[in-house]
Amino acid sequence: MNILDYMDEYEYEELAFYTDKAVGLRAIIAVHDTTLGPALGGARVWPFASEEDAVLDVLRLARAMTYKSSAAGLMVGGGKAVIIADAHKDKNEAMMRAFGRFTESLGGRYITTDDVGSDMRDMEYIRTQTKHVFGVPVHMGGSGDSTPPTGLGIYSGMRACAKEVFGTDSVKGKTVAIQGMGKVGYQLAKHLKLAGATIVAADIYADSVRRAREEFGAEIVDPEGIYDVECDVFAPCALGGILNSRTIPRLKCQIVAGGANNQLLEDADAERLAERGILYGPDFILNAGGVINLSLELTGYNADASREKVMSIYQTMERVIARAKSEGITTARAAEKIAEERIAAVKRVR
Ligand code: NAD
Repeated sequence: MNILDYMDEYEYEELAFYTDKAVGLRAIIAVHDTTLGPALGGARVWPFASEEDAVLDVLRLARAMTYKSSAAGLMVGGGKAVIIADAHKDKNEAMMRAFGRFTESLGGRYITTDDVGSDMRDMEYIRTQTKHVFGVPVHMGGSGDSTPPTGLGIYSGMRACAKEVFGTDSVKGKTVAIQGMGKVGYQLAKHLKLAGATIVAADIYADSVRRAREEFGAEIVDPEGIYDVECDVFAPCALGGILNSRTIPRLKCQIVAGGANNQLLEDADAERLAERGILYGPDFILNAGGVINLSLELTGYNADASREKVMSIYQTMERVIARAKSEGITTARAAEKIAEERIAAVKRVR
């Protein structure tokens, strides 16, 4: 892989490497675009098989954050960090403090937060070294756990999709098949249950499945069977790449609306969904609740303002649908265009 060519092609601003042998830290920060504000994105702690895998991941994730925050109307840009380590075996306080120094060295161009393999406690360690970290606990002036806003945002976007397809934005009496009952799937299910939807769920962990059955009366299917469930909405809340040429023909739903990042394996999968008459709620539109909540730390966190802004994902999704219809393009492409145009317009006045 020629990194500089890749960065040129997708207009990255910066890729920074950092090591601290004494604490076992090997980390990379990618700043994709700071047109709209400092690059905000989580620090993923993952035992990447190779350095190249880590670089590719951090670059892709940073760019996705630019799109997510731009489409959500936030005053932040896109960035991401990876720490090459096993979160269960290698991660420790000293390592996270050292990562805080790395973040500090970028002088505020990058703001970190939690992601896969890192949590709020780690953010507290990072906070000792830099103020450029969001998602610290509420008692420290932060925005706290970002998964409830993520769940609320997906639910809001799903309702906008329902309005388009069913003529009502109520999910009462609808069946929603949730793939992955982890943090996000669980939060989404809470809203759906309260609204009177029937939940079918799949997860690979017995505990998550048990909780879904007990708390939401969910019907449980095996992980591979979730694609074949007769439902109104399919909600991917586990892994990326799960909407592809193998799975899309199996779906028996009218809407796909979930929280997992990078749900489409390739661009053509957006067309495949459209050809089957399935309305796709683009992942980065629907799952922006967490970053919306975090971004409010820029101006002083306020829970009511956060809730209101997260629920406006409904209107963003309406705009995406309108744009897709008027231009005869997929909702995925319409969402990208909305994100790209805002950045291009702001770049002109800079
Ligand atoms: P999580 O690890 O808490 O939950 C994921 C769940 O998916 C786990 O319970 C796991 O067992 C399950 N799973 C894994 N493979 C599966 C399979 N093949 N079939 C069924 N279930 C499977 O993670 P999370 O925080 O809930 O995140 C879920 C997704 O949402 C990820 O793609 C993440 O990137 C995305 N996301 C999360 C947030 C957030 O606020 N946490 C925000 C935006 C996007």
